[in-house]
Amino acid sequence: MTTNNGTHVWKKDGVMGRMSRPLRKAWGRVVHKCYWDKGRDAFVTSIEEGNHDPGSLHYDRGAIDFKRNGAHIYEVKKAAGIGKGFDVIEYVKMDIFHMEYDPK
Ligand SMILES: [Zn+2]
Repeated sequence: MTTNNGTHVWKKDGVMGRMSRPLRKAWGRVVHKCYWDKGRDAFVTSIEEGNHDPGSLHYDRGAIDFKRNGAHIYEVKKAAGIGKGFDVIEYVKMDIFHMEYDPK
């Protein structure tokens, strides 16, 4: 997908799965505010597939991983809407953010 300022959303080969609607909406906010508006591409590295903890929300349409690509965790948290069931974790060594939504 390409925007009018030339930025993209990329998916790593093999990324599959779906997100719950609240998570997908949060991801949309993050893509716009933290990536496209800043002239950065967004790279999805995992949704439901991959090796996650057995109890991971990744298997429940509740999590997405994406490359940091210059974004800061505070702007991602702000865009996601932390405190309403969303959480963002930064994995520095893997250079990704893990964002999850758990309505509890
Ligand atoms: Zn994750």
